[in-house]
Amino acid sequence: MKNNQFAVLGATAKFLEPRPVGQLYFPSWERYEAAMRGIFERRYYTNQGPAAQNLEKILQQHLNVKHAICVTNGTIGLMMAAEALELTGKVILPSFTFVASAQSLSWAGIEPVFCDVDPNTFQIDIDHLDSLIDDDVSAIMGVNLWGGACDPKKLESYAASRGLKVYFDSAQAFGCEVDGKKIGGFGELEVFSFHATKIISGTEGGCITTNNDEIAARLRNIRSGYGAGEVVEVVKTSNGRMSEAQAAIASMSLSDFSINQRNNESLFRKYQSGLANIPGISLVEPKGVSASNYQYGVCQIDELKFGMTRDLLITVLEAENIIARRYFYPGVHRTVQYKSLSDNRIPLPVTDMLCNTSLQLPLGAMVDADDVGEICNLISNIQYSASELTAELQAKSKCA
Ligand SMILES: *Cc1c(COP(=O)(O)O)cnc(C)c1O
Repeated sequence: MKNNQFAVLGATAKFLEPRPVGQLYFPSWERYEAAMRGIFERRYYTNQGPAAQNLEKILQQHLNVKHAICVTNGTIGLMMAAEALELTGKVILPSFTFVASAQSLSWAGIEPVFCDVDPNTFQIDIDHLDSLIDDDVSAIMGVNLWGGACDPKKLESYAASRGLKVYFDSAQAFGCEVDGKKIGGFGELEVFSFHATKIISGTEGGCITTNNDEIAARLRNIRSGYGAGEVVEVVKTSNGRMSEAQAAIASMSLSDFSINQRNNESLFRKYQSGLANIPGISLVEPKGVSASNYQYGVCQIDELKFGMTRDLLITVLEAENIIARRYFYPGVHRTVQYKSLSDNRIPLPVTDMLCNTSLQLPLGAMVDADDVGEICNLISNIQYSASELTAELQAKSKCA
């Protein structure tokens, strides 16, 4: 049997330990320990303490924005944003995004309206917006996807021309730039995630950035009364505070940003050359940015050219301990929460296509250049044997 080189058919897995997707950059133990000792000695766990205040200050400098408001996680940041912007009725957002973008609107009692994405950039298709706008729409949420950007300037001027607010889910875009301007300063506000899978991590965490003093004051009061500064009236409050431990870890992550960004970029380039000559697989280059965090190694699989389905490829890779992922799957418009939505009758063909063809490969602290080289060689071998391997696996699943 020629295919016995593959773990899915019984060979030893290429990697002894799983290679997950996700950034998972950790600071050195010495720095980690010192940061935690500081918290221990100060006896200050939360309520906008010195570590949280410091993180906000350095984020403002790094992103060149007036206000950075740190929060528990990106999802809560998006929920707070919907309240702070006093959104009503409906909000338009791209259908090709993480569920949290839409869920944040549902939590605020707003109906999400899904807009398809551009087949070339995979970002919100601005030309599609006109057909979705009615009197109930109060805003547009842009999403900056996969280390690329959704043309925030064009979206700003489009929204202004229609009298709508625009803000951004920039959870995946920390450190990216558009024409030399850092993401973080566009629209009414932007929301970042500091989840473990993102380039800046506070274990969990996030921040909202804005240049608008009034929105910032509202956000601080929605986050909680602690560290609110001036008290302004808000309709709802919550607990969206970032703990000192989160803030201390996120600060170390921020000081490592350039090193981690460069590491991501070199791994990305390694994938680019390693996958270049394999039929049916193409790595998605971040588009619409003058600088990217290269946080994602996402590929498009053309099943016919590759000779195997995307999902079977994932199964084959998983057996080798390469934990590749479908991304996003199912599409947010097809999740139980939204599949019966009234506006969801509008077809979203590009999103549907992407949900069925996208594959995320490991990129971040858990892989090195040699690993990426090996992953590419393996994918090349899988492609070479794709039809035979598919047949064998189908036969095997029939026997089982
Ligand atoms: C990660 C992510 C979020 C959610 O952020 P959390 O910090 O995990 O809550 C929202 N939107 C997008 C596009 C994301 O990638």
